[in-house]
Amino acid sequence: MTRKGTKQTPWTTADDRYLLENAGKVPRREICLHLKRSRSAVYARVRDLKRQGHAIELRVCTSAEVVCPACGNPSTLMGKDGFCEPCRRRAQLAKIEERTAALLAQLPPEQRAIYEDTEAETESSREPYPPSPTITACMTNYQRQKLRRDWRMACERVEVANLKREIKAAQKRKERIEKKAKQST
Ligand SMILES: [Zn+2]
Repeated sequence: MTRKGTKQTPWTTADDRYLLENAGKVPRREICLHLKRSRSAVYARVRDLKRQGHAIELRVCTSAEVVCPACGNPSTLMGKDGFCEPCRRRAQLAKIEERTAALLAQLPPEQRAIYEDTEAETESSREPYPPSPTITACMTNYQRQKLRRDWRMACERVEVANLKREIKAAQKRKERIEKKAKQST
């Protein structure tokens, strides 16, 4: 819609390129500011581009993800301590393994060898990560980002489930060695 008396600035190739590149990634307000055009002008142009066959929409894919300062991964499972759940679980696992190593050191060498040999066998099974999403040319930026975001969230949940299983296995192993260590003293 153009106001009476205002001259409509023609859309340049660069304007269109910017719009196609950033619609769905950058908030609508920022797009309007960058292009120095009104909301309705931008909406109208998006409709035109859509009619021309471009996959475009102004809706932006939001995410509750926060980048974890420890691992640098975007996470939706941030703890009160400011770290993501996979990081917290990894720390928990490392603590158990540290304790296990200390207990192993207390065992007589021949017994220690038995536990060190069976370590590989007790490794827990891992759930595979979901396959990465297939991005196609006919998807809008919103659709692409939503697919990627949902995939990252699903991967994080799998990672946590795997770590929980590993922790459980490590805990059991620690307890077994603890028992042995007590018997041998
Ligand atoms: Zn982390």
